[in-house]
Amino acid sequence: MTFNRRDLITGTSASAASLFFPPGVQAKSATPAPLLGALITRWRRDEWAFGSYSFQAVGSTREDRLALAAPMGNRLFFAGEATEPDKPSTVHGAFMSGRRAAQEIAALGSGDCLIIGAGFAGLAAAQALTQAGHRVTVLEARNRLGGRVWSDRSLGPALDLGASWIHGVDGNPLTTLADQVGAPRVVTPWRDIRIFDAHGRRRRYLFLPERYRQFIDYEWGFGADYDSLAQDALEASDSFPGDEVIFPGGYDLLLPALDGPYDVRLDSPVTEIDVANNGVGVATRSGATLVADRVLLTVPLGVLKAGRIGFTAALPTAKQHAIHRLGMGVLDKVYLRFEDAFWPAQADAFGFMGETHGQLAGWLNLHKYTGEPVLLAFSAGSAADTLAAKSDEAIVDQALDAVNTMFAR
Ligand SMILES: Cc1cc2nc3c(=O)[nH]c(=O)nc-3n(C[C@H](O)[C@H](O)[C@H](O)COP(=O)(O)OP(=O)(O)OC[C@H]3O[C@@H](n4cnc5c(N)ncnc54)[C@H](O)[C@@H]3O)c2cc1C
Repeated sequence: MTFNRRDLITGTSASAASLFFPPGVQAKSATPAPLLGALITRWRRDEWAFGSYSFQAVGSTREDRLALAAPMGNRLFFAGEATEPDKPSTVHGAFMSGRRAAQEIAALGSGDCLIIGAGFAGLAAAQALTQAGHRVTVLEARNRLGGRVWSDRSLGPALDLGASWIHGVDGNPLTTLADQVGAPRVVTPWRDIRIFDAHGRRRRYLFLPERYRQFIDYEWGFGADYDSLAQDALEASDSFPGDEVIFPGGYDLLLPALDGPYDVRLDSPVTEIDVANNGVGVATRSGATLVADRVLLTVPLGVLKAGRIGFTAALPTAKQHAIHRLGMGVLDKVYLRFEDAFWPAQADAFGFMGETHGQLAGWLNLHKYTGEPVLLAFSAGSAADTLAAKSDEAIVDQALDAVNTMFAR
């Protein structure tokens, strides 16, 4: 099957996500209802993240996250999901880390602050610091706010290319934000999960192969291969209690709840940070240098690992080790939008034990939650990396084969 590339999504590096339309509205895919379009993410290639979220890799500990979070003197501060010791890898963890860093900075008294990164960590800090009376400028590499919270509407409905869920609504600060802006939410109960093997046969959870169970229980959530996860990580929970909810109107509906009288400069990638006794200098790709009393760095762990930002004074050894030891995982998504929903209406989710472990292995029945005829497939860890190396056409083909195997036989 061939598809025409109509467009590449803007808003990040070109290869981070692709948008596809079949050759024409008359064209019939092999599926029971025609495919109207597809969205494919490739988070490992996103040059402002280099992965989906951090994980505690074998050999790393919770202390590495604390080392990553530790300020350098009273000038350079750190936030972002990877710095959150107890609830990393999540939007709420990012938000909490931003609020924590804002407190560290505010405790030092007045002073201008530059924040690098306009994800939930950076924006949570910017809002808190302006409320505390600081003058704040946010420098963001992309041409939009939200970072790894990224809702795309090119196929019609809002489809989240990054985060989808509030993981546990009870006591979660994101519930407060969502209530403030009245963002509609729908519970995904994870009760009716139908699992199929490569021949389209239904499989019961109790009799699943151990390797596929590792995908369901760990790899899907961590975005990393089971063997690469530290034991601590397997036993910890980064969620709050309560229901898991998604945003049918898009996760980015939360962004206005983080507004404030701070200045945001989009398309401003930072290339170098120079910490001196009397302030911090920040160089951007355009050649400009900005100076502030304090700088808060919230870029993803993947960006630090890739050495995309230079530090004139070397980072402390513990921080360097933390950057090296913690892992940056990948969870990739393929959205398929059909003319009609033809799959089991009541199912919450589907599992697919295809030929390549971990590729398109978990599916969400978005039709049940949004009314839109959309399926969302997930791939995790090294399997996501190998899938991402394929062409868009091959990925969509593979996804449609999985759909046919599960629902059309
Ligand atoms: C596919 C996927 C699914 C996910 N699912 C969930 C989920 O369901 N629930 C959940 O809670 N979490 C989920 N997450 C994780 C969640 O999205 C992140 O933990 C959270 O959004 C991270 O926020 P942050 O502010 O730490 O980082 P980011 O949102 O990445 O913000 C950092 C910002 O820094 C910018 N930046 C990078 N380099 C530079 C530079 N050199 N100069 C200037 N700016 C720069 C980036 O563009 C970005 O905007 C998911 C993530 C992905 C990718």
